[in-house]
Amino acid sequence: MSADFTGQVTLDGPSGTGKSSVARAVAARIDAAYLDTGAMYRAATVAVLDAGVDPEDGEAVAGVVARARIDVGTTAGAELVQVDGVDVAERIRSAEVTRAVSAVSAVPAVRRQLVDQQRALVAAADAVVVEGRDIGTVVLPGATCKIYLTAAPEARAQRRAGQLGVTDDAEIVAIAADLRRRDEYDSTREDSPLRPAADAIVVDSTDLDRDQVVDRVVELAQQSVGVSR
Ligand code: C5P
Repeated sequence: MSADFTGQVTLDGPSGTGKSSVARAVAARIDAAYLDTGAMYRAATVAVLDAGVDPEDGEAVAGVVARARIDVGTTAGAELVQVDGVDVAERIRSAEVTRAVSAVSAVPAVRRQLVDQQRALVAAADAVVVEGRDIGTVVLPGATCKIYLTAAPEARAQRRAGQLGVTDDAEIVAIAADLRRRDEYDSTREDSPLRPAADAIVVDSTDLDRDQVVDRVVELAQQSVGVSR
């Protein structure tokens, strides 16, 4: 039933909503490619940190990223993230990169470069699930099915703590503070702020488990192309 989806599913929303694991599972279910645009901004941040440049120095950041070759794969099951041919799939998840990525991704020239690359990758796929912050609003305004995934802040902090194996209350409070800081940065930046597209369907995952969210998104994707189950 599920091989019939063609087009683009966009999955936007704040950090800690379970977006990545939902996006990967949806891609597998509807037999689509998968693009993690956050991984591209994180890879750009690795290049910036390695160049010894201040992430808040927009001009220097733009220069470094313009010279970097950033490659990401589009297969849900195999994470490929490279900067200048070097595998950075693990490094992009480090606390150092997570701290700096919002500043790097707020630089307009960096966004233009990566958005061009994202559109080219999407154009090469018949069916694709793309996750990020501005996919439905800016990158693919004509996408087939737009989802905005959200959840209560406490639920997002708990989920992120679970992923990191953290159980200490003080550390969970610190994770919640970091999520708030990134959301604030991402939603108030001038270029492509985090917000739902006018035609996005909002899915609140606060009281849903991952499989229920995946089922809901698959259903919405299939409805968008008129596939009956
Ligand atoms: O999704 P992930 O947490 O990996 O994204 C890391 C950061 O990259 C986000 O906090 C945001 O600053 C930036 N980002 C963005 N636009 C996207 C995807 C991610 O600005 N489409």
